Amino acid sequence: MSRVYNFGAGPSTIPLEALEEAQRELVDYKGEGMSIMEASHRSKMYDDVHQEALSLVRELYKVPEDYDILFLQGGASTQFAMVPMNLSLGGKVEYADTGSWSSKAIKEAKILGLDTEIVASSKETSYDRIPSEISFSDDADYAYITSNNTIYGTQYKEYPSTNAPLVVDASSDIFSYPIDWNKVDLLFAGAQKNAGPSGVTIVIVKKELQDRVKENVPSMLRYKTHAEKDSLYNTPPTFGIYMLGLVLKWLKKQGGVEGIQKLNEAKAALLYDAIDNSDGFYVGHAQKDSRSLMNVSFNIKDKDADLESKLVALATENGMIGLKGHRSIGGLRASIYNAMSMEGVQALVDLMNKFAEENR
Ligand code: PMP
Repeated sequence: MSRVYNFGAGPSTIPLEALEEAQRELVDYKGEGMSIMEASHRSKMYDDVHQEALSLVRELYKVPEDYDILFLQGGASTQFAMVPMNLSLGGKVEYADTGSWSSKAIKEAKILGLDTEIVASSKETSYDRIPSEISFSDDADYAYITSNNTIYGTQYKEYPSTNAPLVVDASSDIFSYPIDWNKVDLLFAGAQKNAGPSGVTIVIVKKELQDRVKENVPSMLRYKTHAEKDSLYNTPPTFGIYMLGLVLKWLKKQGGVEGIQKLNEAKAALLYDAIDNSDGFYVGHAQKDSRSLMNVSFNIKDKDADLESKLVALATENGMIGLKGHRSIGGLRASIYNAMSMEGVQALVDLMNKFAEENR
């Protein structure tokens, strides 16, 4: 078997151990004579899987009891609308604009006709940083941030403090460091980067906030509908939730969120050092104090598109894929999520060093 090192931004690499367990169980789940994906979502066979995934999220992420954990569909993008539909009280809502995904969230609040304020933005400097001063109003209906900016490769080192409920889009850094739940009221993420395959959206939301929802919000778009039924109001994405459970079991063996955080720091340091020590051959997109531990976006000097394509092609030949930068900023991007090994990052760094020597 030959597996590539997948540096794609999502869907992205999944721990091999989780894939192999799914493979072993695929056609006959624990002697049941069928696959978990063929099982009714009302069966005991599936319910055990569902409850285990829920309790692993609570355990590993240390989610307090006054928060519900929901498994929804529609991707993180549906949350851009569900958040305002459920949390707005008719007053102003506030956003920090740190990249394309924040902008898309802002767009949905505006579509819903809300008084939407952008309190800080790094758009002027092509989103190369998390703005240093972000001050949300205490009387905002909610304050909204994108904890990790997948395209630009920036990440909050600390979440802003506010008395307004804080909403965090953690799609590209969920389960990669511990959360201070005193600061966060709602956190959501598509699973397809750090938590498994696409198709499941994890929402962790404080119970007391769920009563704000207005009468004209349809059932499927209310957090409360799903919370009251343990995310079994309708058919959930059963296979994705099963895979999420396998990924979380793997994460537990890595020392949980705290253990993987250390590995993530070491991986990112290795890659950023290679950029910083390249005598200007590689240029990181993010300002140093805003650098993401998950997505490393960079260019080759003078944004040399030919050299950048050459490096992407060479990497592919050497079993390293997904390095082309997002179409909106070009260049290169290495996504080094939880499941990317140190060996993978080392292989990339070795290739980058050699490439720089040969092409400077
Ligand atoms: N937020 C962030 C930070 C993302 O990176 C992405 C996807 N790359 C999304 C939201 C949108 O996720 P989805 O495709 O699941 O709607």
